[in-house]
Amino acid sequence: MADFSLTLNEDQLQIQSWVHEFAAEVIRPAAHEWDEREEFPWPVVQEAAKNGLYGIDFLMNAISDNSGLTLPVAVEEIFWGDAGIGMAIMGTALAAAGISGNGTPEQVMEWVPQCYGTPDDVKLGAFCVSEPDAGSDVSSLRTRAVYDQATDEWVLNGTKAWITNGGIADVHVVVAAVDPELKGRGQASFIVPPNTKGLSQGQKYKKHGIRASHTAEVVLDDVRIPGSLLLGGKEKLDAKLARAKERGHSGGQPAMATFEATRPTVGAQALGVARAAYEYALEYAKERHAFGKPIIMNQAIAFKLANMAVEIDASRLLIWRAAWLARNGGFKNGEGSMSKYKASETAVRVTEDAIQILGGYGYTREYPVERWHRDAKIHTIFEGTSEIQQLVIARAISGLRIE
Ligand SMILES: Cc1cc2nc3c(=O)[nH]c(=O)nc-3n(C[C@H](O)[C@H](O)[C@H](O)COP(=O)(O)OP(=O)(O)OC[C@H]3O[C@@H](n4cnc5c(N)ncnc54)[C@H](O)[C@@H]3O)c2cc1C
Repeated sequence: MADFSLTLNEDQLQIQSWVHEFAAEVIRPAAHEWDEREEFPWPVVQEAAKNGLYGIDFLMNAISDNSGLTLPVAVEEIFWGDAGIGMAIMGTALAAAGISGNGTPEQVMEWVPQCYGTPDDVKLGAFCVSEPDAGSDVSSLRTRAVYDQATDEWVLNGTKAWITNGGIADVHVVVAAVDPELKGRGQASFIVPPNTKGLSQGQKYKKHGIRASHTAEVVLDDVRIPGSLLLGGKEKLDAKLARAKERGHSGGQPAMATFEATRPTVGAQALGVARAAYEYALEYAKERHAFGKPIIMNQAIAFKLANMAVEIDASRLLIWRAAWLARNGGFKNGEGSMSKYKASETAVRVTEDAIQILGGYGYTREYPVERWHRDAKIHTIFEGTSEIQQLVIARAISGLRIE
């Protein structure tokens, strides 16, 4: 167990400064172009892979840190550069987390590297849970997985909605209902390997923000995969289903477990966006003159900046605590949700205030703050909406099944 400390160690400081440099020199200069193009920024992700920022080594380095802080520190810097490109770089980590959280050690060793490929041949992963009629309510998934005993294959059918890297990924991790009557307890996760027949991309969504990140439907039409691609294996699944039938509980739901562990990281994403907007607005307020003085000399503007600074620091403290707890003893009062909730709401507020501080300029695409505002909003929606975070916290602090 590592001690909780607000002082980053040498390794962490080095990673922070290296990632910041990449974000400042490569990610941020490309942000406007890829936001306008609304396309996956392949050249930037390839450069990230060549620099060691996208890939299995970076992920392993970040997650082998016992303090838990390396990942949020790095992610804050990436998203300070740009959230759309940041999601293009980080989207695969969700698939990797789905595999690591539910797979056997052999499955993790085989498939997590395949999600990333190599710097010369970059691959992507996608984590497919949400459906048109099941977003927050992940217990209602309609995608079905049926076991074909004769061929030892699983057959997947259904449509997944809002999937980051959906259809352009090489490895799709799909959560499906094996026994729909058991709702969330009757679900399992599967790996769909590259070029599997029956998996196709549906509509690609045109979005409000993070437009460089690819988000699309994934259609599964009689997708057949070998029995070995059920994450965790059949024996474990059969035991879980039997327990769920007999005693009414099963020891967790795969998708929820993935989201719980990744929430502080999503908070760090939002934090990076908020900090970008705050820094920009602070400099602007010192330089922009109105009525013969810098606008920051008005308390109305200076106090707004003061509040932005407070909220950003408060968010970071909650994120670091949650990231540390995730690695050292686990959450007790919904701390993972607290960190994601606080940081994402902060990012929306801070980026809106940044537009206000830039006035008319802030509202145009000539300046980055309107993009940061659009990008910030996704964080109150994906990986559990703000209302779902409040629900998790309310249940944790009360011990009651609040609806
Ligand atoms: C850009 C983007 C990328 C995404 N990437 C992925 C991905 O890679 N993989 C994936 O599986 N999913 C992904 N998602 C899906 C995302 O996780 C869902 O959109 C999200 O969980 C919300 O689900 P929903 O859209 O169906 O909203 P709904 O669940 O329909 O919610 C609508 C509203 O009702 C509220 N609400 C619902 N239930 C309750 C309740 N019990 N109490 C109070 N309020 C409630 C919600 O908070 C929200 O305000 C992505 C979404 C987007 C937009």
